[in-house]
Amino acid sequence: MSEFDLLILGGGSGGYACALRAAQLGLSVALVEEDKLGGTCLHRGCIPTKALLHAGEVADSSRHASEFGVNAQFISMDMLAVNAYKDGVINKLHKGLQGLVKSRNITYIEGHGRLVGKNVIDVNGVQYSGKNIVLATGSYPKTLPGLEIDGVQIVTSDHATKLEHVPSSVIVLGGGVIGCEFASVWKSFGADVTIIEALPHLVALEDESTSKQLERAFRKRGIKFELGTRFASAAKGPDGVTVTLENGSTFVADLLLVAVGRGPVSSNIGYEEAGLNMDRGYLLVDDKCRTNIPGIWAVGDLIPTLQLAHVGFAEGILVAEEIAGLNPRPINYDGVPRVTYSEPEVASVGLTTAQAQSRGHDIVEISYDLAGNGKANILKTAGSVKLIAQKNGPVLGIHMVGSRVGELLAEAQLIFNWEAEASDVASLIHAHPTLSEAVGEAHLALAGKPLHAHG
Ligand SMILES: Cc1cc2nc3c(=O)[nH]c(=O)nc-3n(C[C@H](O)[C@H](O)[C@H](O)COP(=O)(O)OP(=O)(O)OC[C@H]3O[C@@H](n4cnc5c(N)ncnc54)[C@H](O)[C@@H]3O)c2cc1C
Repeated sequence: MSEFDLLILGGGSGGYACALRAAQLGLSVALVEEDKLGGTCLHRGCIPTKALLHAGEVADSSRHASEFGVNAQFISMDMLAVNAYKDGVINKLHKGLQGLVKSRNITYIEGHGRLVGKNVIDVNGVQYSGKNIVLATGSYPKTLPGLEIDGVQIVTSDHATKLEHVPSSVIVLGGGVIGCEFASVWKSFGADVTIIEALPHLVALEDESTSKQLERAFRKRGIKFELGTRFASAAKGPDGVTVTLENGSTFVADLLLVAVGRGPVSSNIGYEEAGLNMDRGYLLVDDKCRTNIPGIWAVGDLIPTLQLAHVGFAEGILVAEEIAGLNPRPINYDGVPRVTYSEPEVASVGLTTAQAQSRGHDIVEISYDLAGNGKANILKTAGSVKLIAQKNGPVLGIHMVGSRVGELLAEAQLIFNWEAEASDVASLIHAHPTLSEAVGEAHLALAGKPLHAHG
């Protein structure tokens, strides 16, 4: 039986990042993957959705071209061409990743793996052993009881990223990140979109002020939503899918996207039998991603941390470095940047107001309106940069809404993670005219010297 320093089950963001870093550190590594290297993010998640969103942005630009003095017209979407563009991006990145794994001498094992012992994974009848096993089997799209996914009229994000037509109307069940991104895509593509969300707000994990701004912007775009109402049932018929809510109201659309969250891929692959501690299917780990069984680690969507590709990367790297004896610092999950890539975008890092208050911080807040920012006016986008800071202390949270604000997170996360105070940032010069000036202006205002803001 071949033995490796690290035997990794799952070649998505968490698994492959772990493999690449471990190999870089001189460890022998095998990576087991039953589908495609790159996992959800590359093939059915981050990359395809962002390509669709970009196609949507181009469609919207053509619709609004005359506002900028450009004679152009939106005619229609050509979904075959959209998919060809999207798949081109995926294929290029996939090839690059395959080359990278090969170049680092990682043993790539194709097939369905199953944990059959503390150090052993069986892949289609062949057993491999690892001094360390890293479990990175990711997540799958969940559904609700009584809601059967048929892949045609009732779909998950897996199907939605591959759709070959623009539905005339869509119901999006779930107003979280994935639901809002698809709502944004389809609205841009010309569909009539309604989001149904049981919680009181869209992107409910964000600061409440952010959710409210996104709701305002979506309303302006004609994206409809029902908040605080729970799904009761769905029925397929000749007119499409009829969704009934617990309050009795009904909605009919061509397509129903079920975007009610993702669950860990952890059953029937030997995890329970091995005696791994689990909660609702998630593997439980300590702050270095160690499970309760020495030598078995778990990363990515399989563990109950933020389900983001860059979190998977960070956890994979952490595990590789820990195994190699580098004693890396545990991840501060508050410092993870988060983006919803809808139009407008939502971007945040650090604590929301509610979180800061519940943790007992004495806080001050400021919201800088993008109306005062030159570039935002050029782009004709609305939104804001909100800061939450400890009184006479560091910035605790940065929350942004507006076109392209995801690109501002690089600076925002440095501010949060380096525990900068408003005055530290206020002394930094931001290039004019950029959206990033709004980050600078917000800190100027919080430091008591607002420039293009009242206060
Ligand atoms: C629609 C959508 C949009 C998203 N957009 C973003 C975004 O913009 N930014 C962001 O940061 N995150 C985004 N995410 C989340 C991101 O895709 C995940 O957080 C990330 O892919 C998790 O990585 P992972 O390695 O834990 O799991 P996965 O990427 O799911 O990889 C797990 C891998 O394990 C393999 N596997 C599972 N079981 C076995 C087995 N028994 N044997 C062999 N192989 C197995 C699977 O085939 C899979 O390739 C998005 C997700 C979705 C669904």
